[in-house]
Amino acid sequence: MSTHQHQPITSVPEFLAHALELEVESGERYRLLADSMEIHNNTEVADLFTKMAHYSDLHAQEVAQRAAAFNLPTIAPWSFKWSCPDTPEAPCMEEANYLMTTTQALRLALHNEVRGRDFYARVSATTPDPEVSRLAREMADEEQEHVVLLEIWVAQVAPQYEEPMEDLDPPNITE
Ligand code: ZN
Repeated sequence: MSTHQHQPITSVPEFLAHALELEVESGERYRLLADSMEIHNNTEVADLFTKMAHYSDLHAQEVAQRAAAFNLPTIAPWSFKWSCPDTPEAPCMEEANYLMTTTQALRLALHNEVRGRDFYARVSATTPDPEVSRLAREMADEEQEHVVLLEIWVAQVAPQYEEPMEDLDPPNITE
């Protein structure tokens, strides 16, 4: 991550440009994760990710509607890419999605919801503009709901999908 995102955001258009990047990236990531879970025939988690993609799309639409009143600035050095929980600074490889277990996918989603929430919370706390602070606080609160939801899935649902560490059956007859 560049240090750019740690500088306070000083205007509504600047905030909206950042929020749009973040929400569009989330929507795309969740759709990839949903596809990946479909491939694993895990409809329960695929449905969760489709729902999360929908939330991101709604946020992106809301932001885009507000942004229609402004000329959004180009925020070139900053782009919000999802990172992996194990190497938090590195973007996740697209193809890795298809090799992920359910637990890894849920942890990836949780990790990036936390990053999104923290981003909005930091903007809200550091901006000198009261309107930016209010908008960012609203977004942070909604992201916090997603964090809580994913924490529940990681704790309660993910363990049900864990492969046993030692599976003595030959792989071709495990189904
Ligand atoms: Zn979210």
